[in-house]
Amino acid sequence: MLPEKYSLGFFPTPLEKLENLSKKYPDYNLFIKRDDNSGLASGGNKVRKLQYFIYDVLAKGFDTVITAGAQQSNHCRQTAAACAKVGLECHLLLGGKAPKNYNGNLLLSHLLGAKIHFTGDNRKGEDIIKLKQDLEAQKRNVYEIPYGGSNLLGAYGFVDAVKELERQLSENDLKIDYIFFASSSGGTQAGLKLGIDLYNLNIKLIPISIDKIGLGDKTLDDAILQILHQGQKELSIQKTYSIKDATLIRDYDKPGYGVITQNEKMAIRQLAQSEGILLDPVYSGRAFYGMIDHLQNNKIEKNSNVLFWHTGGLPANFYYSEELLK
Ligand SMILES: *Cc1c(COP(=O)(O)O)cnc(C)c1O
Repeated sequence: MLPEKYSLGFFPTPLEKLENLSKKYPDYNLFIKRDDNSGLASGGNKVRKLQYFIYDVLAKGFDTVITAGAQQSNHCRQTAAACAKVGLECHLLLGGKAPKNYNGNLLLSHLLGAKIHFTGDNRKGEDIIKLKQDLEAQKRNVYEIPYGGSNLLGAYGFVDAVKELERQLSENDLKIDYIFFASSSGGTQAGLKLGIDLYNLNIKLIPISIDKIGLGDKTLDDAILQILHQGQKELSIQKTYSIKDATLIRDYDKPGYGVITQNEKMAIRQLAQSEGILLDPVYSGRAFYGMIDHLQNNKIEKNSNVLFWHTGGLPANFYYSEELLK
């Protein structure tokens, strides 16, 4: 069914009950899936995607990987770690100008040995083709991992994750009604959706949009729908997807990508101080705030079992320390 993968992380990631927060929101039973503990240089959701990419890279004999993201990209940091582990040269295209000090994920990518290129306003991989040509002229054999690792191959990481979750649910005799998570380049969302349909689970996804800007000339919804169509064919899922299968909750992305407001700060403090679990300010903090808003205002059905899928991002807290202390 799914293609082969290369083992890079710690799986299954823990599934835990949020005991204290479930008392605070007594209409709901709250759980958390700890992909922040997936291994590979401080973890995160990209490890699942990278297991499929790295297998493909090695099987096809490439020696160099390029990918792109923001300066505080968790995806780039995890890609750098994966490349280090299997001995590949890693090039990262990061938006903006070279900063005076390296901090958070940027510092870690540097320590992991990635070759870093700053690309100004092009923060979503617009310059990958040019760099690929340059490296090929130097006789490198270059594999391109798309922005955020979001194509069908990367999304398989989350189809696989649904299988992992299903096993944990049946072992614990547990039913989950809703999954909240941060959605930004779409691979996580597409993979979870395909997995839920492939394994016939009755779970409603609540993807919290992080970045209000789309991908090039495409909206994120369109990009996700395209992966759903491809996955539906490859996995022989008996379903016809439409744009409503690929939509996101857009209520929390208004401040813009990487802009930290009182909402993210409140969410980070609430989970940290009630359960001892750390979120990040860009992705999981924003998504967790979206979940709190849904719980507080009963935007989802009462007495349901709600899972927060923690996608990682810890290192970004250090980059945003000033905003987080305000
Ligand atoms: C990349 C990332 C996401 C979003 O996942 P996509 O597959 O890009 O939508 C969420 N949280 C964290 C911490 C991430 O690094």
